[in-house]
Amino acid sequence: MIRLFLYHYSMKKVVVFSGAGMSAESGIQTFRDSDGLWEQHRVEDVATPEAWRTDPDLVTKFYNERRKRILESVPNAAHREISELEKLADVHIVTQNIDDLHERAGSSNVLHLHGNIRFAKSSGPNQEREYFEIDGWELTHNDLCPDGHRLRPHVVWFGEAVPAYEDAAEVLSKADILIVIGTSLQVHPAAGLIHYASMATHKYIIDPNANNLSVSNDFIKIAGGASEGIDQVMREIQKIVS
Ligand code: NAD
Repeated sequence: MIRLFLYHYSMKKVVVFSGAGMSAESGIQTFRDSDGLWEQHRVEDVATPEAWRTDPDLVTKFYNERRKRILESVPNAAHREISELEKLADVHIVTQNIDDLHERAGSSNVLHLHGNIRFAKSSGPNQEREYFEIDGWELTHNDLCPDGHRLRPHVVWFGEAVPAYEDAAEVLSKADILIVIGTSLQVHPAAGLIHYASMATHKYIIDPNANNLSVSNDFIKIAGGASEGIDQVMREIQKIVS
C-alpha cells in the first residue's frame, strides 16, 4: 500500500485541458468552426439564461439533440490514448466539453468546467445543490426537480458563473506537463486557465489551427487533429516520464 502510494507520488503530473476539437473525430461538431453558429443556432438563443427564460422548450430540445448525438458517439483514438497515459503518469483532465467521452474512454480524473450534459439540475435559485443523471437522452417539460422547478441541463451557459473554475486552476497550477487540445481559447474565463500552469516544464497545444492560436512562446505547437497530435506528444512524454 505504502509502496503504491510512493510510486503514484513520484509520477509526473500531466494535465490535459481539452475543448470541443477533442471530440470532433467522434463526430461531435465543434462550436467555433461554423460561422458563429452552434449547430445552426445562435448561441444567444440556446445557451444563455435569457434563452431559457424566453423559450425553455427550445433550449431543452437543443440540448436533447446534443445529448442524443453524444450518446450515439464513441470515444476516439485521442480519448483512448489519454486514458492509457494513466499507466505512466498522474493524469488529470480539465475539459470544457459537456460530453462524457473522456470518462467513457476510461480516464479517472475528469473535471467538467462547463458541466456534463448527461445530468440535469433545478432551474430554480438553488441549482448548484443537486445533479440528477438523465435516464436516456430526453428531458421534457414534465421533468421537475424535487423543489418543484423544471429541470434544466447541467451545463454552464454563456454569462453564468463557472463554479469549478477555482478547482480547475488548482489542478493546472500543479501540472508538470500541460497538453492543451482542441480549443480555440476564445471562451472566457476558461481560456485564462492555461496561465495557471506556470510550473509546467513542458507545454503542448494540439489543434489544426495551432499556429494561429495565441499562447506563450514556451508552448510547442502541433498543428493537426487530436489523434495525430496526441500520438506525437505521447512519444515525447514517454521519454520525459521514463
Ligand atoms: P471551439 O469550438 O471554440 O474551438 C474548437 C477548436 O477545435 C478549434 O480551435 C478548432 O481548430 C479545433 N479542432 C477542430 N477539429 C479538430 C480536431 N479534429 N482535433 C483537434 N482540434 C480540432 O471549442 P472550445 O474552445 O472548446 O469552446 C466551445 C465551447 O462550446 C466550450 O466551452 C464547450 O462547452 C462548448 N461545446 C462543447 C462541445 C462538446 O462537449 N463536445 C461541442 C461544442 C461546443
